Amino acid sequence: MTQSRIAIIGAGLGGTAAACLLQRAGHRVRLYEQAPAFLRLGAGIHLGPNVMKVMRRIGCEDALIRMGSHPDCWISRDWQSGEELSRIPLGAFALKHYGATYLTVHRGDFHAQMTAALDPGTVAFGKRLEHIEDTGDDVRLTFADGTVDTADIVIGADGLKSRVRDHLLGAERPRYTGHTAHRAVFPASRVGAEALDLFTKWWSDQRQMMVYYLTSARDELFCVAILPQDEWPHEQSVVPGSREELCEHFADAHPTLRKLVEATQEVGKWALFERDPLPLWNGGRLVLLGDACHPMKPHMAQGAAMAIEDAAMLTRCLDETGVNDYTAAFELYEANRAERASKVQRVSHNNTWLRSNEDPAWVFAYDVFNEPLSGTRVTALA
Ligand code: FAD
Repeated sequence: MTQSRIAIIGAGLGGTAAACLLQRAGHRVRLYEQAPAFLRLGAGIHLGPNVMKVMRRIGCEDALIRMGSHPDCWISRDWQSGEELSRIPLGAFALKHYGATYLTVHRGDFHAQMTAALDPGTVAFGKRLEHIEDTGDDVRLTFADGTVDTADIVIGADGLKSRVRDHLLGAERPRYTGHTAHRAVFPASRVGAEALDLFTKWWSDQRQMMVYYLTSARDELFCVAILPQDEWPHEQSVVPGSREELCEHFADAHPTLRKLVEATQEVGKWALFERDPLPLWNGGRLVLLGDACHPMKPHMAQGAAMAIEDAAMLTRCLDETGVNDYTAAFELYEANRAERASKVQRVSHNNTWLRSNEDPAWVFAYDVFNEPLSGTRVTALA
């Protein structure tokens, strides 16, 4: 019997994780990416214990532990007085109670680790999916360069403006949230010898700033400010920002915060979009994961984590039913992911996560490989 061909559209964090896990489970996978190559995009990322358990399966956990920064706790502070609002234990506590470490790392370095875990030749670059046709026997994928490929099942991991989502549910633009994220990576030496918390979120009602190290050597810092902006007039989601704009927003902030924004160099400005939970995540031979089906505000730092958990659960469900019964696998996958992803979307939207001393175990202790499987989707609405 010939082996089923699985096409994954989008080699972002969710698509790459799916390709790694499916290959490890013995599937034949092709990963199509519109970009001509990978770049070390300037941004940091938190990897919680729920993600690190997936990285253990992929074989990247040790390398990430060596390269990342390991905060002992997540600290929240008032952005003007510096008063401590909460202190959530991580470090050794996370290892013991959540089953893996919590770390912060450069997003590009993280992506490169997962990409290196793929079989050679898995990624087809410069392949922007334009058209999908389910012939009944297989799926025909037409790319912007005019090439056509076929697959037995297709995973839409193509992010916020997913072409696969549009095919399943009709074209609908994601909703601009009225907020932008200003992201900057810079040498830690630029803030001088000042002792910084390893991992802090500074809060005001309208503006937040998250600051953390990206490397175990603590030589690279990352800050991301979420700021209100009524309109997003650009076609693209990212435009250059500026240090001056950041300094203006934080002119009356705590001196440590002012010093940080003054130390930034290049700043990128991202528009933040979201969608309400989708009524379905699959149809026929197509299934969605990650931002393609549940894009969210970044306030919990769990968007990529949800994409990676999706990838792991989808692999698990395909193993459970057998890939030939993909309809049952997709239903089982959706039944076991929709409620959790929708809840994370909702909490992210409300921007309350860890502002006070709450218990984060429902997010961090989750082990996608060992959760009992449930048969029916619980519909969660925003
Ligand atoms: P993406 O990473 O967007 O990947 C989609 C891929 O598909 C891209 O490579 C794209 O080029 C490709 N693609 C798109 N269309 C096509 C097409 N037609 N054909 C072929 N390829 C296509 N998450 C965390 O877990 N931790 C964090 O700390 C964190 N911080 C964040 C901070 C900010 C400011 C923001 C905005 C987000 C943050 N997130 C974080 C969320 C996270 O970045 C996203 O949720 C995550 O990248 C989604 O992964 P994905 O694979 O679903 O989509």
